[in-house]
Amino acid sequence: MKTTDCCGTENRYETAREFETVQIEKAKNSCSVCEEYSERHKRKPIAVICCDGACLRGEIARQAANVICHELLPQKTVRICLGGAFTKDTGQRSLVRNAGRVIALEGCHVNCASRMMQGVIPGLAPEVIIASRLYDMDRRLFGVEELPMAEIKAHARTVAEKVVTSL
Ligand code: SF4
Repeated sequence: MKTTDCCGTENRYETAREFETVQIEKAKNSCSVCEEYSERHKRKPIAVICCDGACLRGEIARQAANVICHELLPQKTVRICLGGAFTKDTGQRSLVRNAGRVIALEGCHVNCASRMMQGVIPGLAPEVIIASRLYDMDRRLFGVEELPMAEIKAHARTVAEKVVTSL
């Protein structure tokens, strides 16, 4: 299948699903404030995972997730620490596993957050939102240093508001 991706270039995608097996060392340490946070937010109906990529697209998605969970819908959504939820089976992963809805805010069509969490929670069916499709930007840009922070924030707010409207 041939499609145009978020960068404006054409890619070929395999239609068959393939898997990569990884071994993650079990965490020896735990973060008590993270576990308290998980306990405090466990009754919220919507868990928001986000790819948190270090590029512009990931940064905009990350900031949008924060706006949704901490400004626009704080009573209904809980912001997930993706690394904690992915690498250890404690509070953060339980928040995702037990949420009524899981929103996966992805920086781009590579869909890292949803694929990661589906790898550790079999059967997880997050609602995947590709943030880069919700705002206009020069698609040749990649790094966070290539766009003023004010524009990054504006795009993040655009994404957050569109996501909340769709919820
Ligand atoms: S979804 Fe895209 S922006 Fe996010 S971490 Fe993956 S490759 Fe990076």
